[in-house]
Amino acid sequence: FNARLDLNKICLRMKKPLVEGGTVGFKGHVQIIIPEGSGLEYKDREREIDNMVETRLWEITEMEYPVYFEAQKRIEELEEEIENIKEEKITPLIQKLRKEIELVFDWKHAPELLDQTPCYRCLVPIPPADDKLVAACTLKGLPRNRNHCVIKAEVNFEKEFGHIPDLNDNIEVLKLKEIAQQELNELRERVFNENVPPEVRESLTQEEIEEWKKNIKETFGSDYNFEEMENILGNKIAAIQTVSSIISSIESQEALKLLFRVKGRNIGPPMDPPYVNYNGVYGQFDHLNIIKRDDCLACGNIEGEENVQIVVPFDADVGYIFEAMEISEHKLDPELWMITNPMTKEIYWNPYMPSLKDPNIKLTALKIKSNDIVTLTPLGKALIESEIKKYNVVIAFM
Ligand SMILES: [Zn+2]
Repeated sequence: FNARLDLNKICLRMKKPLVEGGTVGFKGHVQIIIPEGSGLEYKDREREIDNMVETRLWEITEMEYPVYFEAQKRIEELEEEIENIKEEKITPLIQKLRKEIELVFDWKHAPELLDQTPCYRCLVPIPPADDKLVAACTLKGLPRNRNHCVIKAEVNFEKEFGHIPDLNDNIEVLKLKEIAQQELNELRERVFNENVPPEVRESLTQEEIEEWKKNIKETFGSDYNFEEMENILGNKIAAIQTVSSIISSIESQEALKLLFRVKGRNIGPPMDPPYVNYNGVYGQFDHLNIIKRDDCLACGNIEGEENVQIVVPFDADVGYIFEAMEISEHKLDPELWMITNPMTKEIYWNPYMPSLKDPNIKLTALKIKSNDIVTLTPLGKALIESEIKKYNVVIAFM
């Protein structure tokens, strides 16, 4: 305590802000202290003025502002009337509904409502496509966004130098940046040509053309910097240590309560709603009411299905679907799986029918668009052996 009191004094004298924090048992607090004259902005001017107006309202007398008091009295009367209406007409209905629900609650709702939460998969029905998929795809296709350019650059780097770039070696990262920049320039050029073909260009002024180029540049972002290479390839988003420690602390706290509960002891209810977002920028916690999905592949009543997202190049063919599935760790034998359109039931691939067994048919020729879903179902031996009886595959064009 004395150390804190001393520190407090020193900070006040030095006009330096102070963050004080402590925990007692399961409670914790954080206090921020901003001394007068620190030069820091703290409160919002408008809100403080509003607060003072509010305080002034409490201080005025009936002599000064009779109209205000009349209005307040009228509001009170109306509020009383509202209460009476509720009591007479609404409360009886609420009581009736409550009785009805209570009759069936224990057997009808309690099992799925009381003692379980949605699972992790409920929130991630279709896992995002793996970076590996995009990487495999860049070998065949053209980069369509900023990240693709870097992944493509890594592939090109490996082709040229015989090894993947060492991100700890500045010279190699610079070389990689150069290759990625080249890809980005080509991407901008391609998009420009797609949007402003030569015949259109003739009718545009120099200014309009520059405007187009500027817009495209903004769409795909500015030139690369050094750190970006590492972030994209390592798929790293700068981790903020302070936020990690806050989140891990909350996790530990919840784990502790659950562990005690497992052992039959109650040291407090687990977090409800079971999901919390913490925003370190505003210091705000938001609890989210998440919903358990009946069609959840992990905890729902659907068995033997799996959702997968794959990334394919624009000119991908039917055979590539199996390649992409293999890269996303669902290796399927093309001789034993059928591909269909779940909406129209059109068959895209059936190994048992020679006329429907052409791996070189382009997906675009089959009118498959980006984010369309195809269904993969097992045949013959796979039908018996595969645990998964149906893949719902989202096809994303790169
Ligand atoms: Zn679930």
